Amino acid sequence: MSELMKFEIKKRDAAGRICSLKTRHGTVTTPTLLPVINPNKMIIKPKEMKRLFGTEIIITNSYIINKHPELRAQALAEGIHKLIDFDGPIMTDSGTFQSYVYGDIDIDPLGIVTFQRDIDCDIGTILDVFGTPDQTKNEAENAVKCTVERAKQSVPLKEDMLLACPVQGSIFPDLRTTCAKELGKLNADIHPIGGIVPLMEQQRYLDLARIILASKRGLPIERPVHLFGAGHPVVFPLAVSLGCDLFDSSAYVKYAMEDRMIFPGGTSYLQKLEEIPCCCPVCSSYTASELLKVEKTKRIRLLSEHNLYISFEEIRKIRNAISEGTLWELVEQKASENPLLHDAMEELTKTKNNRWLEQFEPIVKSRALFYTGHHTTYRPEITRMYDRLFQWYHVSSDVIVLLSESAKPYHLSYENVISDIFSVCPEAEVVVDSMMGPVPIAIDEIYPFAQSVFPLYVDKDTKKVGTERLSVFLKGKKVIKWNGKRTLKELEKYSHFIKPISQDERRLRSVATMQFGPDAAETLFDGTLRIVKSKNTRKIRNVYCNDEHIVSMRAADGMFTLKLAGAKRIHKRFPSPRFRVIVDTDAVPFVQQGKSVFSKFVYDADNLLRPFDECIIVDTQDKLLAVGRCLLNRLEMRSFSSGQAVKTREYVNDDTLVIMQ
Ligand SMILES: [Zn+2]
Repeated sequence: MSELMKFEIKKRDAAGRICSLKTRHGTVTTPTLLPVINPNKMIIKPKEMKRLFGTEIIITNSYIINKHPELRAQALAEGIHKLIDFDGPIMTDSGTFQSYVYGDIDIDPLGIVTFQRDIDCDIGTILDVFGTPDQTKNEAENAVKCTVERAKQSVPLKEDMLLACPVQGSIFPDLRTTCAKELGKLNADIHPIGGIVPLMEQQRYLDLARIILASKRGLPIERPVHLFGAGHPVVFPLAVSLGCDLFDSSAYVKYAMEDRMIFPGGTSYLQKLEEIPCCCPVCSSYTASELLKVEKTKRIRLLSEHNLYISFEEIRKIRNAISEGTLWELVEQKASENPLLHDAMEELTKTKNNRWLEQFEPIVKSRALFYTGHHTTYRPEITRMYDRLFQWYHVSSDVIVLLSESAKPYHLSYENVISDIFSVCPEAEVVVDSMMGPVPIAIDEIYPFAQSVFPLYVDKDTKKVGTERLSVFLKGKKVIKWNGKRTLKELEKYSHFIKPISQDERRLRSVATMQFGPDAAETLFDGTLRIVKSKNTRKIRNVYCNDEHIVSMRAADGMFTLKLAGAKRIHKRFPSPRFRVIVDTDAVPFVQQGKSVFSKFVYDADNLLRPFDECIIVDTQDKLLAVGRCLLNRLEMRSFSSGQAVKTREYVNDDTLVIMQ
């Protein structure tokens, strides 16, 4: 990747990310949309776009400029920025799409790359071979081979231009992954996913999702991904949630020419609209019938404006959703409006895809998870917790008392019931049969069990999945459904009073197991425990063991913040690389001063760490340096050369504990 490009993650949700992308003509915040500019006919000038919609980067076509003698001469003499009068970053396409539309046209694959470089493009694109959905596998394979070969020959020509090398492979996921891997080996900078336009035209969103997932699997995670030719906002949320960063739109003007208006969920002909469901400046100034009376050229301009207002509004909505941790809600909401997107969502429920998504999914979010329909229960943050529940969680007894769904947090709505149960049988495992599946009462405060909102009536599939999860959990246990005094009477038979452990302690141990895995609780809480609770909320705040502050419990998500004393215990008990982010020797002095860890200094990390997980920071000799919170997973930490990987919280300094402000 070019030294000139810096791409770093600022915020994240699902496999989506808000990043900053540095180019020679300024920094761009992604995900974003690049309006397509026709250098021959600018309906809205790039400068105006910047003012009207906050456009940061545009895309134009080097093939058209090169073909047109005057434009070509001017571009070579003054540069592309002057030619189209835009001082921000400019990306160019190479004519691949024109080859697809108009058949064989004469373009020199390497000449077009040097031309883009010579007219000072910020991001140029190789001349790849457009893979259509109706290609045979053999044809698609040949197109991939040719694309990779041209990419290899083009990379040495780019100099200080960023180079985009598109992933092809038609609708064959294995070819897409192979192509992505081959291109990933090259010193390319950006990877468009190509051959998308015919799929968009036919609304084949299931194929689209498969192609994105297959391409992302093969691509270097640290490079921006551009969904080439997907200019309709209907697919933006899904594509972003799967890791796409850039979109381009020529649709805004193409549709405007046909009197079609883009809306977040679809497209409508102006003639068919009784009222325009939009309050953008255009639609606030004209009614549908007034717009129809406007002279054609002016109308194209007005409808283009509307189309871009809507498209950029959607980009902002997505970026907000990433910041809030509600991107899945937005994706699901879109899917509920469009049956073909609904099909695409099914692809994400498949175990293989769900597992791929899980590695990027933050461990906690600041907003509650909202049920929006039958896809919700397959969200990676939920499937992850059930994997952990089945594989890590220690069930305290062979007797399980099952409570029905109720207000959250469950341990408060069932306070008296629980106290009655434990007075008779203190070792009983009390479990709520929730809409998601079983929730043991000791972990009812952790994300997303408490921080989720489900309706009283859910769809059949959610019910079925919840029941399956419950039956896995209950397998081989004696289950008693709560039925008041009768249950208490029955429980007497099973009570052994062998392990008198307080409910608070059980909560600590259970949360530690769900957050850090088996054996973590024994390690962290081995000694004399002292639990400090909030006077107002009665929630656990701080936990001391042998008078050392081990962890704090976060009120918002019910999980632990690891303190340095806790980190020391973890470090001693678990061999490297578990829980560790290992930093290069160069970074050690900085971490020892409490500075955060930048990904370029990460030597290695634990593969089980997820974004926002607690971690311990060590040097290559496994000396404990600090404790902090991951912002990236291992793959990202090892791949990104720019941006923070871990936020350091407390550090070891000559064996004195220093707490960061
Ligand atoms: Zn409008």
